[in-house]
Amino acid sequence: MRVLRGIVAVSAIALLAPAMAAGASAGSWPGGDPRAAADADFFRFANGGWLDANPIPADRGGFSMATILVMAASDKVHALLEDAAATAETEPAGERAKVGAYYAAFMDEARIEAAGLAPLAPRLAEIRAAQSRRALARLMGRANSTFFGSLFSLSVAPDSHDPDRTALYLSQAGLGSVDRGLYLDGDAGPKRAEYVRYVGHLLAIAGWPGGGGLAPEVARFEARIAASSWTAADERDESRIYNPRTAPQLAAEAPGFPWDAFFAAAGLPGIKRVVVVEPAPVHEIAALYAGTPLPTLKAWAAFHALDNAAPVLSHAIADAGFEFHKHRLLGVEVPPPRWQQAVSQVAGGGAKDLQSSRGALGDAVGRLYVRRWFDPHARDALAGLIEDLRRELRTRILASEWMSAPARDEALRKLAAYRVEIGVPERGDRYEGLIIRRDDLYGDVERSTAYAWARDLARLHAPADRALWTMTPQTVNAYNYAPFREVVFTAALLQPPAFDAADDAAAMYGGIGSIIGHELTHAFDDVGRRFDAAGRMREWWTVADDRRFNEKAARLVQLYSACEAAPGLRVDGHLTLGENIADIGGLQLAYLAYRASLHGAAAPIVDGLTGEQRFFLSFAKLRRGHRRIETLRSDLASDPHTPDACRVNQAVRNVDGWYGAFDVTPDAPLFLAPERRTRIW
Ligand SMILES: [Zn+2]
Repeated sequence: MRVLRGIVAVSAIALLAPAMAAGASAGSWPGGDPRAAADADFFRFANGGWLDANPIPADRGGFSMATILVMAASDKVHALLEDAAATAETEPAGERAKVGAYYAAFMDEARIEAAGLAPLAPRLAEIRAAQSRRALARLMGRANSTFFGSLFSLSVAPDSHDPDRTALYLSQAGLGSVDRGLYLDGDAGPKRAEYVRYVGHLLAIAGWPGGGGLAPEVARFEARIAASSWTAADERDESRIYNPRTAPQLAAEAPGFPWDAFFAAAGLPGIKRVVVVEPAPVHEIAALYAGTPLPTLKAWAAFHALDNAAPVLSHAIADAGFEFHKHRLLGVEVPPPRWQQAVSQVAGGGAKDLQSSRGALGDAVGRLYVRRWFDPHARDALAGLIEDLRRELRTRILASEWMSAPARDEALRKLAAYRVEIGVPERGDRYEGLIIRRDDLYGDVERSTAYAWARDLARLHAPADRALWTMTPQTVNAYNYAPFREVVFTAALLQPPAFDAADDAAAMYGGIGSIIGHELTHAFDDVGRRFDAAGRMREWWTVADDRRFNEKAARLVQLYSACEAAPGLRVDGHLTLGENIADIGGLQLAYLAYRASLHGAAAPIVDGLTGEQRFFLSFAKLRRGHRRIETLRSDLASDPHTPDACRVNQAVRNVDGWYGAFDVTPDAPLFLAPERRTRIW
């Protein structure tokens, strides 16, 4: 699944006085910076005024157009949750009642405070009682239905070699943070010292035997795990991350971990087949487990249970979690309002600074959201645009000078097979049998987590269900899922100002059109292209196709890796390759579709700007945003999307149409000679 973040637009900015210049002055563009030059820093030219007027709020790691749309969607969900909580008693068995009760439980801070750490005490007692590595592995097996942590994560998803079936995936885990710098800068590093303090603090609060004394050992254990683990960039190679094993093969390859006990506790006794995502790390982590003293492993397990549960426990521990994860690592100054955390917990939303992506009752909230807030006309308008973009991509594939004939035929079949899903999924979770109580937040979280895992286990032995989405309708986002050959656009994405039927064609194609193009292009990025017309991962490119694709991709890796997101902080061109291919391809396709929509007529000049100028400015506007330096540092290491200015500037300079629109000449800082512009799609 590939996800586009950083989309969205606002329309509430007053228009400034129109400018005369054919070469475009940002003075005529709302939110632009008239002092910036389009051909030196297009991002700043298009967005500088807005950035200056919109500093980062204290409770966020960044602020962007995406933030604005996420906030708009959160406000709508908030209204739904408040209403549901106010009327829940009258329909105690219905899903709306569950939504209301969960929200009310999260908002009942007095009760949460009074309970302190007591709700987690039984889990900590189970860890304390574990007398062997085998017993501890059984607790890890229950990580998907409790607050226990695990060194290995289990998930159920369509089999990437046979997407009609589902498969069980086993992946490296066990770290308290995605921030590798935390581990790799060594014992003396400042972040490591912070982490040791945090681990020790939680263990001490919980009254763990020895207090926080084992914290340095726990951090060192995790540092070894981090050193063994693959990075997000490593995992872009689909051929490396699909390694089916039988249970005996796994036990032979990764001895040292009691796999049978682990799987049995996960509800998977006698499991026959598991797809290992990272074989070498799994082997090494299993060996670490065997070689680490049991008291360290138990302290590690206790810390992770505390860390996982922190957001739903009393302030003493919830605040410590915020202080470390959000303040120290991301630079956020104060927690978001309680209700926003509740929205995230109940409804998900996929917002970057919020925790959960699907939420405990996300599909139920989605049905309420769509009923109240989604305009079905938006679906028809978007569907028309999508077909425009699909037609342009088809033309590009047909005209491609670098693909072999067999690869071209397969690519065309694949593109034709893609389905488009808009607004709300046909089916979702119904939460039948799930008990939600207003007076038991901790229990609500564990029960809804267990419900989701039981649902996944039931799916493991059934054909893959293509009606299900990996996002909820109230999430502001879109994605391309190659095994199902589908692109999905959520209801929350399709609202003004991100999507507004009243926009003129230039804004429409440059804005939502470039997002559609981005999602379609993901089908043929460095990862997506591995999947064939049937959604199966297999080798269908010729050796020469591979070589030519990789040459082009390598140029992009180099170009983006040279871009500084802040002084001394460079983009990782490998990690962001797929998103960058999708950005450039999407912009190119949207531009061609925009030109085609004019049918040879000239676009009107609006506020002194030509249609082509407004097209590219609209593209840049959707990607307006800035972030705290700590958040930027973390994102550069883990987020596959190139941040803000680099994202916009590198994309436009690879698209020919931008040069004519802004009279960009060879002496300009952003100028790329035509032969150095990368055209994959
Ligand atoms: Zn994307």
